Parts: sequence; structure tokens; C-alpha cells
Amino acid sequence: MYFCSMEKRLEQLPKLAEEAKKESKKYFANLKKRTPKNLDYVMQELHTAEFKKTDCLDCGNCCKTTSPIFTDKDTERISKHLKMKVADFQNQYLERDQDDFMVLKTAPCSFFDESDNSCFIYDVRPKACSDYPHTDRKKFIQITDLTIENTFICPAAYTIVEALKVKIPYDYNKKRVRK
Ligand code: SF4
Ligand code: SF4
Repeated sequence: MYFCSMEKRLEQLPKLAEEAKKESKKYFANLKKRTPKNLDYVMQELHTAEFKKTDCLDCGNCCKTTSPIFTDKDTERISKHLKMKVADFQNQYLERDQDDFMVLKTAPCSFFDESDNSCFIYDVRPKACSDYPHTDRKKFIQITDLTIENTFICPAAYTIVEALKVKIPYDYNKKRVRK
């Protein structure tokens, strides 16, 4: 099978995600009406399969373009790691967004190493970073809107959603008539 380069995938992603958005919204609205019992299991399988093929170190697009949310726990852990006072860490790196979440002041992330797409604080990174793109999350059905947004940023999330549409087709819950 042919896999295109990460550079190409990232270049094509906004257009592909935009083209798929309307269909994805309709698809998830239908899936919400009667959610398959094994949805989380299917998502975890698709997530694992995709991340066997996609190496985040080839990509880094989430760290380059968006900020994670920093919880108090994240901030305490990272400040301690950097041997900084929590207040100093917050003043230097974070700001409050319109939804009252603590987020990074800058993009790319201040802890992102552009030379190799790695993270300077990988072992203590925010939970939102280690969980991203959340496609293997429990109760996945609750975060389908967020996932559609993430298909514009994360090539793996895009591929997982498209694979889900194949695995569980739109009309999977239609009554079949025996003739
Ligand atoms: S903390 Fe690390 S993993 Fe999180 S956005 Fe910054 S560079 Fe990426
Ligand atoms: S989580 Fe997605 S956007 Fe972030 S580095 Fe990995 S593939 Fe890229």
C-alpha cells in the first residue's frame, strides 16, 4: 500500500478535513442516536492501528499549532520539574483563554523542539498532550465535535475517523428486511 509523506499529509489535511466535515457531522449525529455498544473498543483498535503507522515525531502538528489546557496539577508538576515557582511558570508561559482555561501564550509550544519535533518536558507534559488526539478515550461518543475539530490538526485523527466510517457504516442501524 502507498503511504504519502508526513509533509504531504499535513499539506493536504485542512482541505481533506474541510471536505469531510459535513459528512462527519451527519455520521456522528446518526451514531449518537444509537451508539454501538462496542464503539470505544472499535475506536481503540483503530487508534492503535493508526499510531503503529504514524509517528508523532514525524509530525508535531498539534504542538506547532495549538495549545493544550494546563490544569493546576499539570502546572505544579511541570513547575517542579523546571525548578520554578508555580506563579513564575504561569507568568512566563501561560495565559487565561476566553473559556477560563490556562493555555500557552505562544504557538508553537514553548517546550517544543522544532529540530526533531520532540518535547522538552515529555515525561511531565500536560495530560491534554499525552491524551491527544483522544481517539482512544472512554465514552468517545461524547467528544465527536472535538474530534471533528482535531481532524484539521491531527492527520492520525483524520485517518481514524475515516476508518471508523468504513468499519461502522452510516446505515449500520437500519433495519434490514428479509425477502
Ligand atoms: S508540552 Fe510538549 S507535548 Fe505538549 S504541546 Fe508542548 S511540546 Fe507538545
Ligand atoms: S498527535 Fe496527531 S497532530 Fe500530534 S504529533 Fe501526533 S499525529 Fe501529529
